Amino acid sequence: MPNPDDDVIALAALLRAARRVVVFTGAGISTESGIPDFRSPGGIWTKMMPVEFRDYIRDPEARRVSWERRFEMEDTWNAVRPNDGHRAVAELVAMGKVSHVITQNIDALHQASGVPEEQVIELHGNTRYAKCLDCGVRMEISDIRAHFHSHGAAPDCLDCGGIVKTATISFGQPMPEDEMTRAEAATLACDLMLVLGSSLAVYPAAGFPLLARKMGAGLAIVNREETPQDDYADLVVNAEIGPTVRAVIDAL
Ligand code: NAD
Ligand code: ZN
Repeated sequence: MPNPDDDVIALAALLRAARRVVVFTGAGISTESGIPDFRSPGGIWTKMMPVEFRDYIRDPEARRVSWERRFEMEDTWNAVRPNDGHRAVAELVAMGKVSHVITQNIDALHQASGVPEEQVIELHGNTRYAKCLDCGVRMEISDIRAHFHSHGAAPDCLDCGGIVKTATISFGQPMPEDEMTRAEAATLACDLMLVLGSSLAVYPAAGFPLLARKMGAGLAIVNREETPQDDYADLVVNAEIGPTVRAVIDAL
């Protein structure tokens, strides 16, 4: 086992040498805020089959189930706060070291930690509001919840009558074009990609660290367990994200 301090020194050295870093985050950066990741035993994502996009579109019952699950999570989403990992990333952004944070998370904790909206790229959307699938107009979860309670179903879009869904990307749903384009541009422009808390198993998102590597950027991964991209990385740190990145910033 390498000495954890050596890992911190090595990661600090990579960051110091880099001019333009992209941070790529997954569910692992938010577990220290109390949000279970995909693979945690007992986590809500492991207890229930996710509703596929196709079923959401076709089946009012799937939409009902989906909304009930979302409303059950409302107290959790309102209570969670950024942790040391999010704060360290926000500091790196504020220092001008990190150009963008590409995230698979839907919890909006990077923005809550102070990363400017335009520097966060949400590949899988955001659970804190809803959108019409046809015209894209934004709707608030609280309004949908009130309608759901009085009518037993979420409202259709007030503007166009389209189906309304949380602003997240479900299994089987096309990736958001604008975010994919921005993520690609940020990746092509970086000289170091720092992955924090992703199993790197979900594509196309997991393609960005590989793309960075292919284009000659450095790759560093901080994750509790191994990932399929460890062999491509310049540095792999198997440790808890919050304490690790906190220590790295202090060592810069
Ligand atoms: P994942 O669950 O597949 O992988 C998370 C990785 O983080 C795991 O390998 C785990 O070992 C590691 N990890 C967990 N806590 C850690 C910690 N404190 N320190 C270091 N490592 C830690 O997550 P993924 O790669 O993001 O893919 C899961 C999918 O589920 C994503 O598409 C994401 O959109 C969605 N999801 C989002 C949230 C959220 O928004 N917070 C939560 C769960 C799932
Ligand atoms: Zn609409």
